[in-house]
Amino acid sequence: MYDPKSLKAEEFICHEEIEDTLKYADENKDNLPLIREILDKARLCKGLSHREASVLLACEDPEILDEIYKLANEIKHKFYGNRIVMFAPLYLSNYCVNGCTYCPYHRQNHHIPRRKLTQEEVAKEVIALQDMGHKRLAIEAGEDPVNNPIEYILDCIKTIYSIQHKNGAIRRVNVNIAATTVENYRKLKEAGIGTYILFQETYHKESYEKLHPTGPKHNYAYHTEAMDRAMEGGIDDVGLGVLYGLEMYRYEFCGQLMHAEHLEAVHGVGPHTISVPRLKKADDIDPTKFDNGISDETFAKICALIRIAVPYTGMIISTRESQKVRAQVINLGVSQISGASRTSVGGYAEEERPTDTEQFDVSDQRSLDEVVRWLMETDHIPSFCTACYREGRTGDRFMSLCKSGQIQNCCHPNALITLKEFLEDYASPETKAIGEKMIAQELENIPNEKTRSIAKGYVEKVAHGERDFRF
Ligand code: SAM
Repeated sequence: MYDPKSLKAEEFICHEEIEDTLKYADENKDNLPLIREILDKARLCKGLSHREASVLLACEDPEILDEIYKLANEIKHKFYGNRIVMFAPLYLSNYCVNGCTYCPYHRQNHHIPRRKLTQEEVAKEVIALQDMGHKRLAIEAGEDPVNNPIEYILDCIKTIYSIQHKNGAIRRVNVNIAATTVENYRKLKEAGIGTYILFQETYHKESYEKLHPTGPKHNYAYHTEAMDRAMEGGIDDVGLGVLYGLEMYRYEFCGQLMHAEHLEAVHGVGPHTISVPRLKKADDIDPTKFDNGISDETFAKICALIRIAVPYTGMIISTRESQKVRAQVINLGVSQISGASRTSVGGYAEEERPTDTEQFDVSDQRSLDEVVRWLMETDHIPSFCTACYREGRTGDRFMSLCKSGQIQNCCHPNALITLKEFLEDYASPETKAIGEKMIAQELENIPNEKTRSIAKGYVEKVAHGERDFRF
């Protein structure tokens, strides 16, 4: 067996082990005693190894699938309750020197206008996002050391945090930029970022090299070891993701869990989040050219199994997915969703959603108010909370909060307080009416009496114009 502690990420997540795991999973996909044993282990909420989870993924028994869905839902509720954290992506620049064959930003694409926001334009985007009610952003940029050097990204982060518009500032900026150096990660940490997110795209090295034929992203080892460098640079919340559709999903699923095992073993803390993007149509990109697309059913199964395999890791779904798919997966483990996203550079400040520089087609095109209302109508609490990171509860401190079951006395009241802010400042009358009712009911579900009473006081203060209370 490979030892995750002594090997580098790229050595640990190796082709031979993944292939061997898939063979083992195939041999055992109908082995019901083993499958029941794995499910019993999963019920302890301590997670599963890549081998165990891969057996469940290979199993096609409909009864087992029902059990998997039921268990994923239970685990989701146990650790994350019925809260769904809201965020929006902010595209800073689509200049890119890479040749990723699935991404419209690829260097050879000469049809899209290249654009990079000035600091004034960043401010306009932030104001437009704040006017919707967003408090948490994920910034996105292509890789281009001349047009988007780290200094540009740092300037943008500074601008974003500095805008005090109407009801306060953006409170958390997550960053999704290309793999970089320990020194640059340190600078990002000092700039006060939340999570550093980097999608692996694929763990299949040979395919990776073909899909990224040119540019710095071609270097598989450098990309795969980025999270280790980020952690070395002091960033302890990192977010993984593969782009489903590029390679065989069972291969990716196994590779991703091995990556989580590697981070846990080497740094003592696993990934803060796992994103589950699927390949979409985009300018100069035809997703049918990539023949590993997965059905909605398989996608739901993957989401449920990630929830079971890594119970403490947040799961993110973007507006790449439709309302229907999002409705299903938020019950199976997803804990964060984006709302009212525009995936074009400068898109939020425009009246209409521009499509000429979009990174990919947005499936869920509802407004933030509509998404918030829909979540509440389906019994989920939309949360604009950013407290953990601002209180220093990152990395293993967040994980221990999660593991101790104290989340209900902390994240739950914070969700209600920030939802109350949204209702006061941004919501339509219908959304506000539903939200007020939900907050009144959910305040009673705070287990600790003292916390409950303080939370009620905070909600009252928000109603009277005060802002930014948190546990
Ligand atoms: N440039 C950075 C990098 O290369 O990691 C990060 C930013 S990129 C804008 C964010 C992600 O968008 C990529 O990691 C990729 O997974 C995803 N993406 C690219 N093309 C896509 C497409 N056609 N459909 C869906 N997602 C796509």
